[in-house]
Amino acid sequence: MRDFEPVHPGKVGIYHCGLTVQGAPHVGHIYKEVVFDVLRRWFEYAGYEVTVIANVTDIEDKILAKSAERGVPWWAHAYEFERELHWAYDVLGCRPPTYEPRATGHIPEMLEMIQQLIDSGHAYVAPDGSGDVYFDVKSWPAYGELSNQKIDDMEPAEDADPRGKRDPRDFALWKGHTEDTPRTASWPTPWGRGRPGWHLECSAMAGKYLGTEFDIHGGGLDLRFPHHENELAQSTAVGQKFARFWMHNALVTAAGEKMSKSLGNGAIVRNVVRRVRPIELRWYLVQSHYRSVVEYSLASLEKAATGFQRIEGFIARATEVTGGVEPATKLPVEFVAEMDNDLSTPAAIAVLHNTVHDGNKLIEDGDSPALRENLAAVRGMLAVLGLDPLAEPWVSRTGASEELTEILDGLVGALLEQRQAARERKDYAASDEIRDRLKALGVVVEDTPQGSRWTIAPHQPTEGN
Ligand SMILES: [Zn+2]
Repeated sequence: MRDFEPVHPGKVGIYHCGLTVQGAPHVGHIYKEVVFDVLRRWFEYAGYEVTVIANVTDIEDKILAKSAERGVPWWAHAYEFERELHWAYDVLGCRPPTYEPRATGHIPEMLEMIQQLIDSGHAYVAPDGSGDVYFDVKSWPAYGELSNQKIDDMEPAEDADPRGKRDPRDFALWKGHTEDTPRTASWPTPWGRGRPGWHLECSAMAGKYLGTEFDIHGGGLDLRFPHHENELAQSTAVGQKFARFWMHNALVTAAGEKMSKSLGNGAIVRNVVRRVRPIELRWYLVQSHYRSVVEYSLASLEKAATGFQRIEGFIARATEVTGGVEPATKLPVEFVAEMDNDLSTPAAIAVLHNTVHDGNKLIEDGDSPALRENLAAVRGMLAVLGLDPLAEPWVSRTGASEELTEILDGLVGALLEQRQAARERKDYAASDEIRDRLKALGVVVEDTPQGSRWTIAPHQPTEGN
């Protein structure tokens, strides 16, 4: 980001390909949301006004197949999982995109683009009467530039019946309606009823909301080819400059395999956040560089969660000692340098760890300007990663009302007083029993020079995976 020059001074436009809402999102899906949420926050820290467009692919062959299997309308299936996706990125502290267009809401824009491509000789209607319209890859010499491939080395596009294609690598802009799909999943066009091809959706929506040239186009690495290659060909073939930078996050694997295959339901976000808190899952994901594969396992996730709890422990103690400070708005230069270096979060987090380490030493001498500055820096660095535990959305997610929290505080406090009395009379059996009973209820007691403190432990996993 050091040499970053935006299309419009002071503003950044980011498009990242949203999900095809066909099923419940797993950790691999949500990783992209976290990466692009951190990117957005980093640009905002740098003073840019950021516009984020992430589409929802709500019409696609997989949605039609899965909804038919379940016996529900395709649009109800898509909407159900769109809501599930929203829940997942909300629970992980990812802010919603500036705007989130749905593919089915942009059919006229897509038809207009297809017509332009046909008129300029880059697309053709299949001669077999299927209603398919294809992009003619041979007509576009730059095809393959994004993924560094020569047309002749490419695999055939598998997105449609190849009979009507001039070249097996031609990809579908529009898919003619077939009798085995619901009529509601088709729209009238000059070439017959049909539905959009996936790649065309993004080209039409990116152009509409970000203009003919914008800053960053992103998505998972698996989208680079053919999806992004095809988007680039379509948009540039109608005369747009399209994206200045492409940013692809690496995939999440488990046991070396693509996540959805190897872990099944175990990796679904809704299930994972029953094992660790959402903030801990986010911390875990942010620790990897976005271009490095995340090899997911429950053991590594739990290890990361424990590490994050130590940082939270420091923040809680330092806040108590200092009475609390606001997060810094000017962050340590080493941290900034690492984040500016292609969003190098692992190195930036090393700076964060060092700062916490220093803070833990400072805390021994009680309140001081140095400790306040340290705490502000730690919270500020966490904030740009979306992980400041004392900021929204985390701070208001304690799960209990204020009234209940007060009652709980009183009850636990009374038990801790009894425990203290037991310790004073050297009745350690009684004091340990109180601590163990609290622990069984999920209340962890820690003895500090300032007295006993307690926290509610995150939900403990009960089964292995
Ligand atoms: Zn896309």
